[in-house]
Amino acid sequence: MEALSGTSAKLVDSRDLLDILRQHPLTGPFNLALFSERHGRKGLREAIHAVCSPLNGAIPCTPECLQAWEQNISRAFLTNQPMVHTCTQGLLCLTILLSKSKDLPEYLIGGGVFERNAMIRSSVEEIKRSAVTAPTLESGQQSQPVSISEAQSIAERIATALPRLVDQHVHSLSLARTTQRLEAVQKLVRELAGCMDKEQAVAIVSEALVVLFDLPKVLIVLQQPGHTLKIHSTLGLNPDTFQLDQKRLADYFAKDSGHPENLPEEALEAFFPGLKARSGYLFRLGGNDCQIGTIAILDVDLHGRDQALIDLLINRLGTQLESLKTAEGHRLERQVSSRLVAMISSLALIESRREVYLQILEMSAELLAATSGSLMLLNEVEGTLKIVAAKGMTSTLAKAMSIGFGEGIAGRVAKSRFPMLVNDIERDKRVAIKNRPRFKTKSFLSLPLVVEERLIGVLNLADKNNSSSFGEADLNLAQTFTKHALLMVERAATLEMASQLEQLAITDPLTGLYNRRFLADRLQEEFSRSKRQQQSFCIIMADLDNFKLYNDICGHLAGDNALRKTAELMQRSARDMDIVTRYGGEEFCLILPGTGKKESVFVGERIRRAIEVENFPGENHLPLGRLTISLGVATFPADGVTANELIHAADQALYQAKGLGRNCLVLYETSLENHTLLSHHE
Ligand code: GH3
Ligand code: MG
Ligand code: MG
Repeated sequence: MEALSGTSAKLVDSRDLLDILRQHPLTGPFNLALFSERHGRKGLREAIHAVCSPLNGAIPCTPECLQAWEQNISRAFLTNQPMVHTCTQGLLCLTILLSKSKDLPEYLIGGGVFERNAMIRSSVEEIKRSAVTAPTLESGQQSQPVSISEAQSIAERIATALPRLVDQHVHSLSLARTTQRLEAVQKLVRELAGCMDKEQAVAIVSEALVVLFDLPKVLIVLQQPGHTLKIHSTLGLNPDTFQLDQKRLADYFAKDSGHPENLPEEALEAFFPGLKARSGYLFRLGGNDCQIGTIAILDVDLHGRDQALIDLLINRLGTQLESLKTAEGHRLERQVSSRLVAMISSLALIESRREVYLQILEMSAELLAATSGSLMLLNEVEGTLKIVAAKGMTSTLAKAMSIGFGEGIAGRVAKSRFPMLVNDIERDKRVAIKNRPRFKTKSFLSLPLVVEERLIGVLNLADKNNSSSFGEADLNLAQTFTKHALLMVERAATLEMASQLEQLAITDPLTGLYNRRFLADRLQEEFSRSKRQQQSFCIIMADLDNFKLYNDICGHLAGDNALRKTAELMQRSARDMDIVTRYGGEEFCLILPGTGKKESVFVGERIRRAIEVENFPGENHLPLGRLTISLGVATFPADGVTANELIHAADQALYQAKGLGRNCLVLYETSLENHTLLSHHE
């Protein structure tokens, strides 16, 4: 008979073949296993163990046993014929050459069945002594002893049937398995892609390796934080029995090894000292530049198909682990940046600048986990840096400290405008000073504070709370934070100033009332609003009576006070919605939105009375015996539809009030002769 041709054997997974044979009636009661010469004596021992395992322990193999197998294997190879022999324990052994391909032939071996004559030969006593009540197969059922000639014909039948079996069944089984595994792998890949947890991703893959690919020994090595490789988990192996040579493993993956190869025992031992395995594949986890671990699959010959699928699965795991790592990085980044935003926004609420600097120091110290530090501001006139905010040192000491521009660390940072990140204050050549006892750790960070190209000071941070050193990441974080914080401070200051200016622009400094400019704007708004809503509104022009005289009698300062008091009384007497403005000198103009003539008289009259009854110093010298005010009222739209018209009308009414003896309110009427005097002093 012919052994399977090389190509045929390659296409077929020998394990699929084994499964077919195991279920095939012609193999009779024999246990079957595969052996490849590639695996040497160790592999042979394992194969023998597999076929004899149901009897193992009860009937131990002897060294002669192994020798006999070896002899028959070489005979099978040379003759191309199936071989049968009986071992020293009286067990029948089959050897069938499967593939003669290259110089690594494969064999099917069978065993676990007693030879009938040997059974007869061996006394019942002997069997009892060796505690074998009945040689059994794994099911525990008694296996029928077989004669040597029966075994011979079974072996020949298997050998003859093999090519046909392969054609008929194995290929289709192989195809079915391939399809099934491919589908399962596709599902797993999808599951992996949605998996957001590292441990879970690893679990998905290791479970698939064991369940789907039926792998006996799997070893997972993952990179830990700090780039060390550690044994993450093992399947079918005791992790305490071996170690890991990190450097060797890292070196192995540094050289792009492409597809994994089946490494021999010695090579594996070099990577994993103490590991007992006859062969193994090392699958790389992660891309070329970032080796994040490895998965070792031991003591199995992988079918090309399975190797490709496992490769795919492990590759995806690597990709997922990498993206989870990046995602974790991004999450941290997001956390930090949202913290930054929160910090910077809170800075905007702080009013005093000093407080802001203290907060910048506190916040950057918090971000970098620094327990001490200081913020120095540059005094351009003196050319010195002075501490304005300190943390972790007494404020008296801080206040006393002032350094020259260009002197010391902070002075040099200020002058160069380059941040300084020092890992060891004693060793760094740029610093080369003895670690001052003030600092607990030797690492510190000093960075220039620059606002719009202008150096304003230096921020110093030291003593990271876990005693570790500051790194580039800390420097970047501190720079980002201070840059934004300082911009915020500047912007807040500008805004504050702008709003102050704006406020200045619309208010009268003496009385605090709105000024004439504001009145003009506000009047325009009132016109359009009232037109839109078809509402009326009034304006009142008011002018203090004989005020020139009051100034002359009581002095300019008393006059100013009287103006202030008048403004206050007007504000108080008007309604919330009314707008009181200083029109100029001792003239005031009020806007009464949504108000008709009658109501405006009510408001105006209240103002007139308030001033009339108020005591102004020296007012008794005035012609009326007190300081009073006259008022003229005009209404939109009846008395005017533009600001000028309306103001003019109100002025006319006011003029009329003066003419009528002052301290009174006059309503403008279209017919000038018809001013309505609504009130007058008694
Ligand atoms: P009438 O009753 O007709 O209004 O007489 P009057 O004296 O009030 O009128 P006139 O407009 O001639 O004088 C206004 C005076 O108001 C002139 C000026 O001395 C005074 N005055 C204007 N603005 C101020 C000011 O800001 N402070 C002070 N102390 N006096 C002012
Ligand atoms: Mg006047
Ligand atoms: Mg006046």
